[in-house]
Order: sequence, then C-alpha cells, then structure tokens
Amino acid sequence: MPVIAAVKGSQNGFEVRRIYCVGRNYLDHIREMKEADERDPPFFFQKPTDSLVADGATVDYPAATKDFQFEVELVVAVGKAGRNIAVDAAAKHIFGYAIGIDFTRRDLQREARDRAWPWEMGKSFDQSAPCGPIHPIAGTGEITGGAISLSVNGVQKQKGDIGQMIWNVAEIIANLSKQYRLEPGDLIYTGTPAGVGPVVPGDKIECVIDGLGALRIAVGPAAA
Ligand code: MN
Repeated sequence: MPVIAAVKGSQNGFEVRRIYCVGRNYLDHIREMKEADERDPPFFFQKPTDSLVADGATVDYPAATKDFQFEVELVVAVGKAGRNIAVDAAAKHIFGYAIGIDFTRRDLQREARDRAWPWEMGKSFDQSAPCGPIHPIAGTGEITGGAISLSVNGVQKQKGDIGQMIWNVAEIIANLSKQYRLEPGDLIYTGTPAGVGPVVPGDKIECVIDGLGALRIAVGPAAA
C-alpha cells in the first residue's frame, strides 16, 4: 500500500519511497550524546516507509523500550532522481521540506552502539517517523537557516538553528547520492539539535521550524 505524505496547499500527496536519516549532524547533540566523532563524514540509516506518521496523530508508546525519545529534524523531500549529485546542483533535486521527528528507542540504540550491532532496533520501529506536511521549495525557497525547536507539554526541550548543521542539506544530498540512487519520493531526515529526551504516554509534542509551521504528535499508551 503506498505511503502518502501531505503536501501543503495541494490535494496531491507525496508518495514516499524511502526514509533516510542522518546519524549525527549538530555539534551540540554529538556532545550531549558523548560521541567523539565531531568531524566524521555523515552516516545514514533508514526507517521503514510505513513508519511514517502524519501531523496530529497519536503514536503508541513503542514496544521493547523504557526510554522512548524525540529528535526534531528538518525533513527534505526528494523530487528528482540522481546519483553522484554535486553539492551546487543538490537544490534542484529537492521537492520540498517538512518537520519530522526521528523517534528513538534510546536504550536499544545505546545497547546496539555498545555491542557494535546495527542501529535498527533503536531507530527503525513502528510509527517512528512522524512527518508534517511537505512545503514545496517553490514556496519556501532553499532553506539554509532558521530556528528549529521542540516542546513537550508546552515546555521547550530542543532549540537550535538549521544553520548549525555540520553537513548542510546540499552536502547531505551529495553524500547520500554517492551511496544510493536518490529517487522522487525519498525523504531525508537531516539530524537533530541538542536537548533530546524521553516522553511518556499522555505527553504532547510540538515541533516548529521557521517557515514550515508546526508538527503536533501525542504519545498514547502501549498498543494492546
Ligand atoms: Mn536523528
């Protein structure tokens, strides 16, 4: 079944092909996670396409974790295919932008890191990829800066600026397209600023990025 993301100002949705995520991309978040690789190249992981969740949804508290955490991220929607895309040509491959959350089972992610296992159990689970409506680049222009923030129950937890990315959007597209052929329908979550933390059932999350409105997600009880 196709997975469709909403497009701002359009009746036509965006059919999602793949969901890519950048592992670490803001210095203050790397430091809060006590990681050492501040200048390493970007690395990528994927979430299942059907883990996408729309704005306004309530997600089940996920299975197998006691540390369910949020990471607010700028999401880039790819509109044009390409391999080995040059940095200065990357913007031509962008369809638009959205606000997303890279939900994480942090305890499982840390265990995977410590045991040198894949990150999959920590990152690639059901309902782990909320994504708000995609704002076409035709309306927003290329986004290279602007505030990004997340609050839980009205209390701000994360705050940063898109301009603080270690690898900017064009560099991410260039790098990712050396490893995979990008196709229309791909989403790229571009990393999170500092302030990540846990949520529990009943919490209400609100994310804001300048020019992209807000994304609201509630956390429900564990699925029966
Ligand atoms: Mn992330």
